[in-house]
Amino acid sequence: MALTKEIELPSGKKYTQPLGLFINNEFVNSSSEDEIVSYNPATGQEIVAVQAADAVTDVDLAVKAAREAFPGWRDTPATEKRDLLLKLAQLVIDNVEMLAEVESLDTGKPVEQNAKYDMLELAEVLKYYAGWADKKTGQTFVPSADKLTYTLHQPLGVVGCIIPFNYPLAMMSWKWTAIATGNTTVFKSAEQTPLSILYFANLVKEAGFPPGVFNVVSGTGAKVGAAIAEHTGIDKVAFTGSTAVGQIIQRAAAVNLKPLTLECGGKSPIMIFDDADFEQAVKWTAWGIFNNMGQICSGTSRCFVQEGIYDKFVDALAKHVKETYVVGAPSDDKVLVGPQVSKKQQERVQSYIKSGLEEGCRAALGGEGLPEVIASSSEYKNGYYVKPTILADVLPTHKVAREEIFGPVIVVGKFSTYDDALAIANGSEYGLGSAVFTQDITRALNFANGVESGMCWINSSNDVEIASPFGGVKMSGYGRELGEYGLANFTNVKSVHVNLGKKL
Ligand code: NAD
Ligand code: MN
Repeated sequence: MALTKEIELPSGKKYTQPLGLFINNEFVNSSSEDEIVSYNPATGQEIVAVQAADAVTDVDLAVKAAREAFPGWRDTPATEKRDLLLKLAQLVIDNVEMLAEVESLDTGKPVEQNAKYDMLELAEVLKYYAGWADKKTGQTFVPSADKLTYTLHQPLGVVGCIIPFNYPLAMMSWKWTAIATGNTTVFKSAEQTPLSILYFANLVKEAGFPPGVFNVVSGTGAKVGAAIAEHTGIDKVAFTGSTAVGQIIQRAAAVNLKPLTLECGGKSPIMIFDDADFEQAVKWTAWGIFNNMGQICSGTSRCFVQEGIYDKFVDALAKHVKETYVVGAPSDDKVLVGPQVSKKQQERVQSYIKSGLEEGCRAALGGEGLPEVIASSSEYKNGYYVKPTILADVLPTHKVAREEIFGPVIVVGKFSTYDDALAIANGSEYGLGSAVFTQDITRALNFANGVESGMCWINSSNDVEIASPFGGVKMSGYGRELGEYGLANFTNVKSVHVNLGKKL
């Protein structure tokens, strides 16, 4: 089987795409005939097929490589770990153009407006956790003159990392916390987006990470993902994806009581009070859902506006999105809205738009069908595009107000009082992000206190901060990534009790 293929990018540049499994710092053939075909979402054309791992033989090999590498990596001096992470971050920066173009080809993300930003985030996250590698310390306590206690923060062992399609390398980078804390890893990419992590694997080797610290197996969730979740040689799983799959993983992980972090779906509310900075509220509301084609787990997809400014807000939002969120080819620097990641997602999002209109919502912008500029293009008309859509006059009970759409679609409805707003915000099975717009500090802080979510943005939306933890409650999952809290999810805090002379 071929281990590489030369691929021409839309810019005309060529690169070598690895196709094998990445185990012990080498690309190797899978022992299975299975393949994962990657498509270009902008055109609907096949890019290349990568090798899929055999769920037994190859996953075992990757776990074995990680297991054997573990003691050496665990005991590598903290400053060496730090320097390797910093070197990798620099290699990402040196390769930012190519990484962004590969990510864009596979996901449909606009190169300039989305993919490059993701690659810089990847570098920043690596630098951030490089900083912790030689700084995270435990606690000591002297409860009495004859006793000392202290804590050790020890890595768990082999961590399985399962990543989604929406931010392939950025979501991968959040899970590098595992490596920064001394664990070794087996990563699985999403089947829609297998390419960039294999390209990135070359940089991991070039940076000088020891073999077996970072392994990658491509494959479907049902086969390779499931094998990771139930593997007794894996000590923890860090998962980002849908709630339904999070539930499957939690069941499978029971086999050896693996600890989990589950970053699952959301239906995050954004509440606009009538005293808000109107123009900023409009802009952030748009950004909070139309960036990355709406494929944002914490996207504020449920907007409710206080009744006095409702009509004016819907009109202003529609005008702003129409003018600013330019739809087109991912290779075009001016474009902010590319295609959805797959045909399946395109159809799913379209069916939600249809459902919203049938339930009585009004399309203040967009609606069913392809964006005009795409429908009339010979090159992109088979791409997985959806019109940026505003479904106005929504009721909290509508299906489109309850279920995660995961596309460039926002539902907008109205509320009258603060109590209504909080009740609507909390009337969801999910609890990932939330946002509130008001100039009244007391109201804003009360909302942040009362809202059932892992994150709350006051007067912004989805302004993610690497130094602050990210994660959810309720059906959005549990555990935190990013920030100092992110470290805790990858370590065993061991309590050591030292007798300084206490006699029985
Ligand atoms: P998905 O759950 O279908 O897939 C995510 C990953 O899980 C993929 O790698 C997939 O192959 C794997 N998988 C699928 N079935 C599996 C199984 N039975 N066992 C083990 N692994 C399995 O999600 P998706 O469609 O790729 O991504 C979209 C979803 O992810 C949305 O619901 C979104 O909200 C969520 N998401 C959440 C966050 C977050 O941080 N909370 C971030 C990004 C995406
Ligand atoms: Mn693809």
